[in-house]
Amino acid sequence: MRKILSFILSIIILVIPGCAGNDETTQNNKLKIVTTIFPLYDFAKQIAGDRAEVDMLLPTGREAHSYEPTVQDIIKINESDLFINIGGSADPWVEAISKDENKSNTRIMSAINVVDTIKENHHDIYSVDEHIWTSPENAEDIIEAIANLLAQMDPKNKDFYEKNEEIYSNKLDKLDEKFERLTKNNNKKIVFADRFPFKYLAEEYNLEYFSAFPGCSSESEPSAATISQLIETIKNENINVVFYTETSNQKLADTISGETGAKKLMLHSCHSVTDEQLKKGITYLELMENNYQSLKEGLK
Ligand SMILES: [Zn+2]
Repeated sequence: MRKILSFILSIIILVIPGCAGNDETTQNNKLKIVTTIFPLYDFAKQIAGDRAEVDMLLPTGREAHSYEPTVQDIIKINESDLFINIGGSADPWVEAISKDENKSNTRIMSAINVVDTIKENHHDIYSVDEHIWTSPENAEDIIEAIANLLAQMDPKNKDFYEKNEEIYSNKLDKLDEKFERLTKNNNKKIVFADRFPFKYLAEEYNLEYFSAFPGCSSESEPSAATISQLIETIKNENINVVFYTETSNQKLADTISGETGAKKLMLHSCHSVTDEQLKKGITYLELMENNYQSLKEGLK
């Protein structure tokens, strides 16, 4: 399937005439940036400000993992100056595009290449966990890489991008310090009645987690053994919150909450936001601030 997709993409790339997004063809002289998922979109906007047009390929409210680019998406990418994606197994189709990078003038940045990654073990198969943005430190690495690239591509606005990076990076530092303080002297066990896309956050702050499924596994029916294990953990460790993610149907969280009296709280994985949230201009920092508040309650 992937081979076929790559093949189709190569044809599309060959057929679409070379990148039109650069220099004189960008009427207002603004850089055109295309990103795949929400955190990258928000990071690019925070750094580029009004000096670039930033576009997000993943439609709002859509599940990030089943996304594959449409022909229009490929055209958008080819017409952009910079295309930012996660890369690795998160976006297997990017490889096909990258091979053709020399043919178009679009710069391609895969965020997975600018952070320290964690391998995930699922049934003895190791793969790189792709939810790199869930740790504020990784977010800092990513915005730094974006700022450096923009400064190279648009040197007349170098100072502007660097200033934005500094401001944003200070905000991320503050968030990081808050998480540090919260997790320093606390019971660090959390229970997730869900998938667990927060491995980087957990690793960063030494959170010990118990989840129904690893990573963003597509499994949806936990075994009876898993359910009773999560319930036992909550009872034995006197845990007062059971977490779920924003895409959850919350059935398992309801069951566990019913059995233990633990309060249900959401941690937002930031993969994707709703149309309404996007219109309101929600940011990664806001979502992470809410996560901080939930975690604070869960670690009491
Ligand atoms: Zn995921």
